[in-house]
Amino acid sequence: MNPFHAIRRGLALLLVTLAGSAAAQALSPEEAQLVARVRQHTPAALQLLERSVLINSGTLNPAGVREVGDLFAREFDALGFKTRWVEMPVEMRRAGHLVAERTGERGQRVLLIGHLDTVFEKDSPVPPWQSDGRRVRGQGVSDMKGGDVIVLLALRALNDIGALQGRTVRVVFTGDEERVGSPVEVARAALIDAARQSDVALAFEGATKDDEGRDAATIGRRASGGWHLTVTARTGHSAGVFGRDGFGAVYEAARVVNAFREQLIEPDLTFNAATLVAGTSAAWDDAESKGQAFGKTNVIPRDAQVRGDLRYLTAEQGARVRERMQAIVEQSLPGTRSRITFRESYPPMAPTPGNLRVLDAYSRASADAGLGPIVAFPPGLRGAGDVQFVAPIVDSLDGLGAAGGGAHSPDEWLEIASIERGAIRAALLIYRLTR
Ligand SMILES: [Zn+2]
Repeated sequence: MNPFHAIRRGLALLLVTLAGSAAAQALSPEEAQLVARVRQHTPAALQLLERSVLINSGTLNPAGVREVGDLFAREFDALGFKTRWVEMPVEMRRAGHLVAERTGERGQRVLLIGHLDTVFEKDSPVPPWQSDGRRVRGQGVSDMKGGDVIVLLALRALNDIGALQGRTVRVVFTGDEERVGSPVEVARAALIDAARQSDVALAFEGATKDDEGRDAATIGRRASGGWHLTVTARTGHSAGVFGRDGFGAVYEAARVVNAFREQLIEPDLTFNAATLVAGTSAAWDDAESKGQAFGKTNVIPRDAQVRGDLRYLTAEQGARVRERMQAIVEQSLPGTRSRITFRESYPPMAPTPGNLRVLDAYSRASADAGLGPIVAFPPGLRGAGDVQFVAPIVDSLDGLGAAGGGAHSPDEWLEIASIERGAIRAALLIYRLTR
């Protein structure tokens, strides 16, 4: 049995135990107050959500990311938080992060994680905001401005009833979650620093359901990174292709990605081949995420570049798959030569017993509020997130954000009612963790 299966079996047992203890209890009078305050402030929170979504904050639009950060910073200031903007070095071409803190001596120290950026850049044709009163479609509505607003709504209710007095709550909203700045040690220093001063981390990426339709939160996430395939080939008249002049860069690039698809697919592993530029000349600009190619149909192409991602559940799986990809790359077609480079952006978040305990507390808070229990989401099904940088340091739980779907696609949507629901659950959980 590989180590992950052992962890899974352990988890299954723990979850059965936890499920038995999840019977709902009545809220205390103060907790009932808290829920009432969340409901009272929900309309204002929805307005804040719309304002934030109407500001384009694609990761590569630092001015927009900063503007969303400033909008949220004013809200934190009004709740008695100290806010600051963490700048990134200019050459990283990232906006930086919003940090908000309240400190005290009592209860567990809680870290709340969100992000300000979205995958929708300024030239995105996706309409920023379309609401039918029940659902909103738009740029980053559920990934994750909805989650950010849930954080603010929960804290507002907590502040209303005086529950933040003497407590330590740190909030980090990063500005480059969708494309982490490089070097990553600099890009995530503020987040990791906040984690070192915290006991529990709660991340507000989109809420999910498991395959049985139960509300679920995330106790583990796959590592993620990227690969970049560069092909150079002999060029010449197209009449000579397959012969003396070799196969050209396009056939070689196609061979490699097709071999990945045919030979490497296994559970908990994905590798999306995302962009391909090829021709007599082909250039890729990472900063702009754009490529350019020149070529003619009667010329054997000299250059090809393919970029993709790589997601895996354990360090062992990552190392093994990278080795196999390397071996495939080295079997180049005649007249061509391929090279592949790898980059790891997110370490894996292991589904630890500590994370399960946070899930249990979250599930109880939800059940006690009449919103039903929350189960663990299968780690292999979730993309990467900022929580992975803090998970090695503190007990962590993700997926406390808004419910919706279609993240990163033109159809991204948010269930409006999930803002209030998420904020009630989060407010109760933070309340209990900080008592
Ligand atoms: Zn996100």
